[in-house]
Amino acid sequence: MRERISAKASCQCGRVEAVIAGKPILHAICYCESCRTAGLAFAQAPNAPSIVARDGGTDFLVYRKDRVGRFTGGDLLREHRLKPDSPTRRIVATCCNTPMFLDFTKGHWLSLYAGRLSGNIRPLDMRVMTADRPEGPPLPDDVSNHATHSPRFLIRLLVAWAAMGFRKPKIVW
Ligand SMILES: [Zn+2]
Ligand SMILES: [Zn+2]
Repeated sequence: MRERISAKASCQCGRVEAVIAGKPILHAICYCESCRTAGLAFAQAPNAPSIVARDGGTDFLVYRKDRVGRFTGGDLLREHRLKPDSPTRRIVATCCNTPMFLDFTKGHWLSLYAGRLSGNIRPLDMRVMTADRPEGPPLPDDVSNHATHSPRFLIRLLVAWAAMGFRKPKIVW
């Protein structure tokens, strides 16, 4: 990787780890029902950290797939799909039941759960899919809140994809 290593993603126990180069595309909290359903299910496993905050949001940083290095301890990773034919899979480190990242298999980006990252973490950019949020107090207005998707999010994904020469690398471990 040409870019400097900027962050590290690791499971709770440290057996699964990857280095990440360069800056993330975006930092967002997603309130969609899929993120919440999957996250709450993962949290049922023994000693699992919860990726769903009390307000129902799932905090993640989006990186280009080619910026995420190969995972050490990758044989401990397992994928989960909400539906068998879903293009979206969520990856959990089985050593300590830690959800690691979300992979939209048809896309060029990877969403790493914020709690997994150490290093130079980009501040929050936005909240998305807030229309799916459970009842609760109003969200802070420190960043932009979007009822569904954010145009800025989609544009950033597109710009990142162009910089990748419109390639879609597969994430491997
Ligand atoms: Zn672990
Ligand atoms: Zn979501």
